[in-house]
Amino acid sequence: MTKAKVLLVEDDPIQAKETEDLLINTGYEVLLARDGINAIKLVKSMKPDIILLDLILPGLGGYEVCRWLKLDETAKAIPVIMLTVKKDLAEKISGLQIGADDYLPKPYNALELNARIYACLRTKAIQDELREKNRQLEELLDKVNFMAATDSLTGLFNRRKLQENLSIEFERAKRYKIPFSLVMLDIDYFKKINDDFGHGTGDSVLKEVADIILKSVREIDTAARFGGEEFIIILPNTDRKSAVIVADRMRESLAGHVFTGVTRKITASVGISGMPDAEIVNEDLLLRCADMALYRAKQNGRDRTETGTCAELVKDFP
Ligand code: GH3
Ligand code: MG
Ligand code: MG
Ligand code: MG
Repeated sequence: MTKAKVLLVEDDPIQAKETEDLLINTGYEVLLARDGINAIKLVKSMKPDIILLDLILPGLGGYEVCRWLKLDETAKAIPVIMLTVKKDLAEKISGLQIGADDYLPKPYNALELNARIYACLRTKAIQDELREKNRQLEELLDKVNFMAATDSLTGLFNRRKLQENLSIEFERAKRYKIPFSLVMLDIDYFKKINDDFGHGTGDSVLKEVADIILKSVREIDTAARFGGEEFIIILPNTDRKSAVIVADRMRESLAGHVFTGVTRKITASVGISGMPDAEIVNEDLLLRCADMALYRAKQNGRDRTETGTCAELVKDFP
């Protein structure tokens, strides 16, 4: 077991020597500071496990040092025992109020000092353990949240997260009357890619398509795998005309990309719906309209982008 590191802040050389000897004999490693500034420096550089802090110090006093320690993110968990000749209750209370963990009047009894150090270190050990458990739990929660929102094959958002973001964006667009677009992208003749090059290659094509999509969108956009070889991108603050430009850029990147294990060009068809649109009253309808636009893109020969208002798209739909 490593020795606990005690920082002793004491300006009186005789007191300091006496306490230091006592601590060393008990089995602690001792750091010594003669004033407040050096105490803070040692806390930063040496990270003690506990601090014995004299109240009356030259320059920066014990209260100021304690206040600084308890406001500092990295130091605030270190227990502080205030040492002072003042037995006055008011002093005791103000020391505890600014965050000292314990209080010991001088001259102190060696056994009592040891018992208080021990108790403080034990409390700190429990708190450290709790903090670590908490950190692990938070890490686990982050992982769970990430997994619940992510498509495992492509790393894009999954359908669940897409629906969630779509609802938020739809409400926002409706309330503030700002435009936004929904881009639905479907790989052309993907079944044939699987048939000709194998399902494994099909999977890696999906991953590469996802990477291309991610490269063409902004931080605020939501790129998701909607299912199979179909992707959806939510473009906030983007009207349909601008969304077509984004989609065409994406399609060009796709068509120009050499996919691993595939010896021919891969293309995609895109359907775009958008807000505002008088007929689109909810996000499901917005999705249906993007799907109708996509249908039109497939009908019109694939490797193209189609868009329209809900009224226009419905007219063309069989
Ligand atoms: P179209 O141009 O009309 O879109 O034709 P398509 O062949 O791309 O469309 P279709 O819907 O007929 O076929 C989609 C195929 O995608 C069928 C399915 O086996 C395949 N697929 C779906 N999910 C995955 C997957 O996770 N990995 C692989 N490799 N293939 C998948
Ligand atoms: Mg003093
Ligand atoms: Mg397809
Ligand atoms: Mg499809």
